[in-house]
Amino acid sequence: MGQISAKCTHCGGSNIVCGVTVDQTADAGRIGLAYKTRFVLMGTEQFYADVCDDCGTIVRLYVKTPGKTWYTK
Ligand SMILES: [Zn+2]
Repeated sequence: MGQISAKCTHCGGSNIVCGVTVDQTADAGRIGLAYKTRFVLMGTEQFYADVCDDCGTIVRLYVKTPGKTWYTK
């Protein structure tokens, strides 16, 4: 993989940290994208962020497993 060529949309810097886990404290539960499966009504797909380490802008938010049956309202 190596370095990505992404640049921060805010400050133009290239000091992007990729794949940072979007986390929460344990008692707040998990944050993620909800999806439906055959076995459980709703799962939560963890998502990840690419963050500019210079100014703190989140350049990208994404999940690592696309193609699920996303739960939408
Ligand atoms: Zn930046």
